[in-house]
Amino acid sequence: MRVIMASNASARDVGEVVRIAHEETGEPHRVEVAALNGRLVVSIRGPGPAVDPGVFASMSGVESVEDAEPVYRLAGTGQVAGDERSLVKAVVELPDIGVAIGAEAFVVMAGPCAVEDEDDLLTTAKAARAAGARLLRGGAFKPRTSPYSFQGLGEEGLSMLARVRAETGIGVVTEAMEPAAVERVAQVADIIQIGSRNMQNFPLLREVGRQRKPALLKRGMSSTLEEWLGAAEYVLSEGNPNVILCERGIRTFSKHSRHTLDIGVVPAIRERSGLPVVVDPSHATGSSSRVPPMAKAALAAGADGLLVEIHPEPSRALSDGFQTLSLEEFATLMNDLRRIASAVGRTL
Ligand code: PEP
Ligand code: MN
Repeated sequence: MRVIMASNASARDVGEVVRIAHEETGEPHRVEVAALNGRLVVSIRGPGPAVDPGVFASMSGVESVEDAEPVYRLAGTGQVAGDERSLVKAVVELPDIGVAIGAEAFVVMAGPCAVEDEDDLLTTAKAARAAGARLLRGGAFKPRTSPYSFQGLGEEGLSMLARVRAETGIGVVTEAMEPAAVERVAQVADIIQIGSRNMQNFPLLREVGRQRKPALLKRGMSSTLEEWLGAAEYVLSEGNPNVILCERGIRTFSKHSRHTLDIGVVPAIRERSGLPVVVDPSHATGSSSRVPPMAKAALAAGADGLLVEIHPEPSRALSDGFQTLSLEEFATLMNDLRRIASAVGRTL
């Protein structure tokens, strides 16, 4: 159980909650106090008699009580297995390219839906970099609805990403679709993407957890926040502390866009988890004209970065061209984002 204290709770309020927790639970329970996003959280763990959450709910200075042990004990703290003491905002460091995700800088990752052609990829990487993006996105292995659609270039696509990375110095984020591919993808990628459709592919999550390259964990299109953090927990509990959440739109009754961008999940994550969160406005909206407004909303809402599809000529992209920005549109967006970043205390 977690007792979340109000931001203005006094030391006496916290002391009372801890005292009652000890009294109600008895010795076998573990009572810990830690800070998360400006609030104190009293965690009560371990075996022993069940404690009535109502006992705490009405106490002075208590904001809310979460009853069950969350399925995302580590994702809820941003800490690695074995270090449960401090609840902090996690920062995913990419030392090879000098990027930190979850810190002050808003990190933009941009590139084609799929790696298609090396010249286009190089052109895209250079333009993305010049506009201020820190990582190049692009799938070599593509999860497609139809088995007859373009499936990505596979190994050849990975090699192209590696060469473009070497030539331009831009970081690479690319998807691994199955456990057997993780080791090879990790050789090329600075960040391994786990796609929406694979959010609950538990063997894949565990495999990514067993190595150290950061994971970009996209939200399942029908997943709750609880399930998403549970998926992150699979990676974290294997010992990889580097998980970045990516909101990419969910399925709703609404038909005016490909998915519904759940921008409200950004502050909701902030209340529950220290993990960095980025937003993908491309798959969320499914329409290039709607990408810039949603990208700006993501920055204003407190996201740590973006994943955006861009292409030198979106109309000839082999997948998702309709939601892909041209290089010029992307440069314009980056300039607009810069102004918002300075208004909300971020750098770009
Ligand atoms: C992608 O980003 O390449 C992708 C396939 O997105 P999603 O998994 O969110 O559908
Ligand atoms: Mn795509």
